Amino acid sequence: METHLLELPIPSEDIAFGLMSDFEADTHPNKVSLIAGTYRDENGKPWILPSVKMAKEQLRDENHEYLGIAGSPTFINLAKELIFGPVASGSQDNIGSIQTVSGTSANHIAATFLADRLRPNRVFIPSPTWINHKSIWESTGVTVAEYPYYSSSTKEVDMAGIMDSLDQAEPNDIVVLQACAHNPTGVDLSTSQWRQVADLCHRRMLFVVFDSAYQGFATGDVDGDAWAVRHFTEKVLAFENHPGLCVAQSFSKNFGLYGERVGALHLVLPRNVSALGARGELMAIVRREYSNPPRFGASIVQKVLGDCGLRVQWEDDLSTMSLRIKIMRCELRRGLEKETQQDWSHVETQIGMFSYTGLTKEQVSRLRDEFHIYLLPSGRISVCGLNEGNIQYVVHAISEVTKS
Ligand code: PLP
Repeated sequence: METHLLELPIPSEDIAFGLMSDFEADTHPNKVSLIAGTYRDENGKPWILPSVKMAKEQLRDENHEYLGIAGSPTFINLAKELIFGPVASGSQDNIGSIQTVSGTSANHIAATFLADRLRPNRVFIPSPTWINHKSIWESTGVTVAEYPYYSSSTKEVDMAGIMDSLDQAEPNDIVVLQACAHNPTGVDLSTSQWRQVADLCHRRMLFVVFDSAYQGFATGDVDGDAWAVRHFTEKVLAFENHPGLCVAQSFSKNFGLYGERVGALHLVLPRNVSALGARGELMAIVRREYSNPPRFGASIVQKVLGDCGLRVQWEDDLSTMSLRIKIMRCELRRGLEKETQQDWSHVETQIGMFSYTGLTKEQVSRLRDEFHIYLLPSGRISVCGLNEGNIQYVVHAISEVTKS
């Protein structure tokens, strides 16, 4: 037994976290990190949202007791309202929700529950996607299939690829969809494309897992960013023969609460089916995995969403973040087009925190080795890492490594 443990090979480091520690160790004065999907202000510093700061002041006397297994009921109701809007009203029994340890555990609990209960043949995840989708689903033993999400030639969503792949799925299979501001590509489906995918999923009786990690970052409007989730939910609630769907909701990015681990998981079942039993099973998973979710982050979110003044301030904070990102996209495009005489319009038209630049692995390595600029090997940059102090340097470096 002991020998088995001693013989375990050291696994390779997580790519993003490995790069972040390389960046920390780099002493170059001009180093730039475009790695993590964490918002940075115009000085390159982490930003505590003013709405969050105000809520924290009001929570000074908050106690440190355990929450229940499902989390805070007030938080859950507000989280539900934020993602489903009016679509959820009157469907209390059909939507079973729990608080989670941010978006990651919402995805993981959904996967654990669905692998056990639905026993799908396959789960379809986008290619490319957030790196954890694959590992979370692989850990459940369900076969992971990838559907082509992005066309590198058009730099748009690969709609034909999505439809062809999902048409191969069998009833009961699972499809993971990102609700908005797709990570890593920054391109989303249009409403008419979402409608086509929703119809196909219903026709083929596929169970959809929405991953919503960037509500408020795509359009800057929380309702607009929830459009796809609400459209699919309306369909589930309108039919009796619909397999249902899940939403894994994260508050890391839209509240800047990365370390507090705030999230929720919602299970939506057709109108003739109560979600109470299924919710009980989700709670049983929580009980054995971490017993109950963290209190403080959820208290902040419920304070902000439950107070009219703080909520207005929060929406303003979201606009501050998304506007700064848009400005950086525009400046990056202009700078690159001026220096390279090539078309970089995609960095401006893409949305959310990330831009899929199209830089090759070799170009990404040169950016790190020669210019101390760090980004993922896929060429994804976190636009939040750009600011007036480093953008010219980044433009110059990219134009140097893309010279033919
Ligand atoms: N889903 C997507 C698409 C993400 O990009 C991320 C984080 O980057 C997450 C989920 C999970 O984030 P967290 O666990 O911090 O909520």
